[in-house]
Amino acid sequence: MDDVVVVGGGIIGAATAYFLSKEGRKVRVIERDPTYKKASFPLSLGGFRRQFFQKENINLGKFALEFISNISNTLKTKDNPNPTASMVPNGYLLLFGPEHAQKQYEALKNHKACEAGTKNIPASKLKEIFSWINPEGLETATYTDSKIEGWIDPHMFHNALKNKAIELGAKFEKGNIEKINDIKAKTIVSAAGCWTKELLDDIPVVPQKHTVFRVKCPKHYPDMPLTGDLPSGVYWRPEGKEYLAGSPNSKFDAPDLEPEWNDFEELVWPALAKRVPEFEELKLTGGWAGYYDCNTLDNNAIVGKHPKYENVFMATGFTGRGLMQAPGIGRGLTELIMTGKYQTIDLSSFDLDRIFAKQKRTEPYVL
Ligand SMILES: Cc1cc2nc3c(=O)[nH]c(=O)nc-3n(C[C@H](O)[C@H](O)[C@H](O)COP(=O)(O)OP(=O)(O)OC[C@H]3O[C@@H](n4cnc5c(N)ncnc54)[C@H](O)[C@@H]3O)c2cc1C
Repeated sequence: MDDVVVVGGGIIGAATAYFLSKEGRKVRVIERDPTYKKASFPLSLGGFRRQFFQKENINLGKFALEFISNISNTLKTKDNPNPTASMVPNGYLLLFGPEHAQKQYEALKNHKACEAGTKNIPASKLKEIFSWINPEGLETATYTDSKIEGWIDPHMFHNALKNKAIELGAKFEKGNIEKINDIKAKTIVSAAGCWTKELLDDIPVVPQKHTVFRVKCPKHYPDMPLTGDLPSGVYWRPEGKEYLAGSPNSKFDAPDLEPEWNDFEELVWPALAKRVPEFEELKLTGGWAGYYDCNTLDNNAIVGKHPKYENVFMATGFTGRGLMQAPGIGRGLTELIMTGKYQTIDLSSFDLDRIFAKQKRTEPYVL
């Protein structure tokens, strides 16, 4: 019998394998596609932030920065002595119209309680800080400018976690697990992302297709933060000399990962040009689509022990934030498995009892 089997070698599987291996567990990670062609993490935007409503999500975002900032020490290996995640700490800027403002004022109390280090300004003052913005229709905005939010390269981060886990003894193997009961191990961790329902059919997590466009513009602002325009649902950030922009549209039951090209002209470009008038001159240069691991109950993570099994733990349902939450989730699951309870960030509000009781704990900040 194996000690630990992790199903899925994506970012959650790799982070969990790393933390469990550090505790001396013998971990096998079973991944059906080691090229990760359709996995969510390589298709993500790489963003990490602490601007959330719920305290757990704020604290997971804070830990993401702490962890990523230290990987040159913690994840260095013989073969990779200088691991990096290519962090770009440009910050986040979230823009709220009157329809979202009240909720945001409540969120700010949680930011304060968690010492998140965010700043809030009325929309009328936005141009003093972000000269490129058209604040029309906005009421308020929250941002960071102290290098505590930004984005990373998801591939490099995954590689560093995986290589360190392997150095600590974990084995990554190619394989497709059809049923959770096929695994014989003391501890099983399901980290199957948006495909979790195939293994555990009582978990309400499904693939939700999201499209990202690559665009170029004669005017480039390399210092621009990752900006989320809540009224339109469009978000964007610089990428090298270009920009990436996410569509607010999403699709369940999408048969393939062909980008929804129509979204660009119909939704994304108009929203970008409204908010940043210089984006009127954009040119589309490319794009891709990926699946969010969408928790259809409340858009929030599902983490913990599955109550119907003796030895099955799981983490999924991150709905657009699994990359940044991976370090905190990997650490938290390891604490739960090793000691029976969380020792650092209390993740018990993400447990499966709420799912089966259909008690929503909605995180409103889905971008
Ligand atoms: C367009 C887009 C933008 C995003 N932007 C961000 C962002 O800016 N910041 C952020 O934090 N998050 C973002 N996300 C979300 C993030 O990518 C996901 O939440 C995260 O990757 C989930 O990690 P995971 O390891 O659970 O899933 P995945 O990365 O999908 O990995 C799961 C793995 O499990 C394997 N697997 C599944 N079933 C089985 C099985 N039965 N047997 C063997 N292997 C199996 C799959 O092949 C896959 O490799 C974005 C996602 C998309 C699509």
